[in-house]
Amino acid sequence: MLKGKNAVITGGSRGIGRAIALKLAAEGANIAVIYNGSEEKARETCTEARSFGVEAECYKCNVSDFNEVKETLDKIIKEMNRIDILVNNAGVARDGLIYSMKEEAFDMVIDTNLKGTFNTIKHLTGHFIKNRSGKIINISSIVGITGNAGQANYSASKAGVIGLTKAVAKELGSRGINCNAIAPGFIETDMTEKLTKREELLKAITLGRIGKTEDVAELALFLASDKASYITGEVIRVDGGLAI
Ligand code: NAP
Repeated sequence: MLKGKNAVITGGSRGIGRAIALKLAAEGANIAVIYNGSEEKARETCTEARSFGVEAECYKCNVSDFNEVKETLDKIIKEMNRIDILVNNAGVARDGLIYSMKEEAFDMVIDTNLKGTFNTIKHLTGHFIKNRSGKIINISSIVGITGNAGQANYSASKAGVIGLTKAVAKELGSRGINCNAIAPGFIETDMTEKLTKREELLKAITLGRIGKTEDVAELALFLASDKASYITGEVIRVDGGLAI
């Protein structure tokens, strides 16, 4: 479905990003995996991706650093010649009630989740406009739609990603660029590993199960493909009905 396409996936070393990278690779896309701290895991993603017969390289880059993102994306463009798909998946959570939330916890989450998404889009827009094509897929969260107690910073960052997605979709639609967001619910990854109240949460999920990274990757593949060429500015929940 994506043979010959080139995709950049931020946070492709673990969890949802890793599943998306492998899904795109399995469908023929060459992949550039951006990681921050997990070099070994990023290498594992690339090794597994290559088993599908595609090219895969990993790049260390802190997505919250404006200049580092520019340098990294310039390098990727040089090596791949062209980028067709950008998946903004890198994200962190630093949960706490607003009353006790430290300024650093707020800044860190906004800088990674929201500014990190801005940084990559900002530095790739010129490239996408020149090509008159590009698929941008931003990983938001259902809490960016509903809000969540104990996650003011995270909810704000993910709501910001939704606003950013819609604005970018409107700005770049006439240039052949699609920009959409995925809003996952509760997906089994390192991020949700420590979550308590699992039983309670499970009761609230309409489909009665916790999500798998694969559930999100399937939608990312669809949005990255030409099958979704008439979809832009959309926010699609992958949450088993948690936020109905
Ligand atoms: P995860 O397992 O904790 O993985 C996070 C990924 O983001 C890692 O690959 C990490 O790379 C990367 N990352 C973090 N900070 C970074 C930075 N500053 N620069 C570059 N990469 C960075 O998380 P996940 O559950 O897969 O979540 C992936 C995305 O889905 C996030 O945006 C998250 O907010 C969103 N989401 C997750 C859920 C869920 O239930 N899991 C629900 C809704 C939305 P390194 O390890 O290399 O540092």
